[in-house]
Amino acid sequence: MRLNLAHTLLRSAANGPGERFVLWVQGCPLACPDCWNPDTWAFERRDLRSVEELASVILATEGIEGVTFTGGEPFAQARALTVLAERVRAAGLSVFVFTGYDLDELTRPEHRALLAVTDVLVAGRYVEAERTDRLAWRGSANQRVHDLSDRYSPDDWNEVAAAEFHFAKDGTLTVTGFPAADMLAFAVDV
Ligand code: SF4
Repeated sequence: MRLNLAHTLLRSAANGPGERFVLWVQGCPLACPDCWNPDTWAFERRDLRSVEELASVILATEGIEGVTFTGGEPFAQARALTVLAERVRAAGLSVFVFTGYDLDELTRPEHRALLAVTDVLVAGRYVEAERTDRLAWRGSANQRVHDLSDRYSPDDWNEVAAAEFHFAKDGTLTVTGFPAADMLAFAVDV
């Protein structure tokens, strides 16, 4: 079973509770205007990785709290992500998912299977008019955080949103999390 990915990040503290392995899937059908990741929309082959390989990499990453699925649209690859989530949860890690769908839109059996192995879901389209950098883990205020297991308390996300800048050895800059507009302007200038 394989996943089509856009990127991965070994460690981030801006994409859910604690330090997390982050996986951006490739492909999103929702086309929110002003989406921050339009390069992840196309359902084209990008970085095909087996679930087993990814599970091994994630489980070999020391000190992480869990894994975060984002995109692109994770529920477009729900079956493979469910298998990966089951593997990492069995090892004690948590699963945090960002989706552009609202929770009540996720009705298919494969959606329900992924929700069943998700600890926290952040759900809803990105709406530029409701953009915020004051709510943890949300790009726009219409999005909702759903606590789907007893692993966390809502107190864990009563915090100001965070953002990170990652500089790769080849000079590539990756901005992740929820940066304020002036931070994004800095990133464009770098
Ligand atoms: S759901 Fe997310 S990735 Fe998809 S278009 Fe909307 S903001 Fe972009």
